[in-house]
Amino acid sequence: MLTVEEALVRVLAHVPASRTERVALSEAHGRILAEDVVAAGDLPPWPASAMDGFAVLAADVPGDLRVIETVAAGGSPRFVVTSGAATRIMTGAPVPIGADAVVMVEDSEAVGDDLVRLQGFATPGQHIRAQGSEVARGTLVLTRGRTLGAGAIGLLAAVGVAEVAVAARPRVGILSTGDELVEPGAPLGPGQIHSSNGYALAALVRDAGGIPVDLGSVRDDPAAIAAGFRAALRCDVVVSTGGVSVGDYDHVKGVLADLGIAMDFWRVAMKPGKPLAYGVIDGTPIFGLPGNPVSCMVNFYQFVRPVLRTMLGDPAPFLPVVQAELVGHTRRRPGRPEFVRVRLFRDGDVVRAEIAGYQGSAGVLSMADGHGFALVPGDAAEIGGVVAVQVFDPTFGASAEPGYRW
Ligand code: AMP
Ligand code: MG
Repeated sequence: MLTVEEALVRVLAHVPASRTERVALSEAHGRILAEDVVAAGDLPPWPASAMDGFAVLAADVPGDLRVIETVAAGGSPRFVVTSGAATRIMTGAPVPIGADAVVMVEDSEAVGDDLVRLQGFATPGQHIRAQGSEVARGTLVLTRGRTLGAGAIGLLAAVGVAEVAVAARPRVGILSTGDELVEPGAPLGPGQIHSSNGYALAALVRDAGGIPVDLGSVRDDPAAIAAGFRAALRCDVVVSTGGVSVGDYDHVKGVLADLGIAMDFWRVAMKPGKPLAYGVIDGTPIFGLPGNPVSCMVNFYQFVRPVLRTMLGDPAPFLPVVQAELVGHTRRRPGRPEFVRVRLFRDGDVVRAEIAGYQGSAGVLSMADGHGFALVPGDAAEIGGVVAVQVFDPTFGASAEPGYRW
């Protein structure tokens, strides 16, 4: 029996080489940078006014000054500001040469044609965003491996980057197996269930940054399974569900062996979980996940997702972990380490975890309700106290109320 860590080490030893592609900035959201980005110019590119007001020599304030011109955003000053002169300036307009401060319009008063009275005091540099003060040319602004969120996209655009190299999204073939499966929407015949794993896996692949290639469900028939795997092998990674438990285990194993794919059928010490079938052919990892919906998703999170994130160049390919205080205690029979689905909520400064309903390996509700997996060691005699929780739904703690109370 392998530990989860041992199985993970083996899986991570065969991560396919990742490809990169250049995409327009408008297509880059959510992608992972495959290059370091250095600012090609200064930001701001010239000294810019941070206020609507008057560009002056600080030493001239307070005083009455002659207004020599007006510069709006997008314009450019024609005159140098000298002592006794002021240029009326708008937010985002270039500060004229000679001026070393901007006095805001609220501190001014027109006292005649082209004459302005400025009150208070001015310090050199006030309300001026100096050239390169936010980002100096040549600065490393974003590093390789960085996921491009809204802030990063805005920064790239601000420094003039129009396209970026990102990791290509891995194509993940998804094959469901089972005679009992029918598509959601179709009526159920005797002994039939709606196939859910393919849909959940497609969503998991997308969440992980991959492209799901749904190859549908095939019956428990060697020819159909072989055809399904043959189609799936055109992808970068293959994930199948069902047919790897003891009952039909040899069936899938035989089909894959006929295709020249040597699979390992690992018994991983984890709950929920069944044997995890794993093999590599021509550099393509193949994961045979259990058919039980929760086992299928837990296995995906533990083994497939880190492979996909590593392919994408994510320096942190594992789920984030938070420490949480479990609400209540549950006695348990020690056994395999367990991924207990929990709901998380914030209670003041602490995060609390509450067991998310029925914990059987077919308990789909626990995956929909839960925010994370509480990691319970195999030798624990009870579940309680502070637990480490792998977070798969980061929306926990979101509130129906605005969070501020000034
Ligand atoms: P298996 O791993 O094929 O032995 O299946 C184990 C359990 O998971 C059985 O109850 C199957 O009916 C169920 N199962 C298998 N595939 C799926 C699927 N695609 N969607 C939902 N349940 C499934
Ligand atoms: Mg089956």
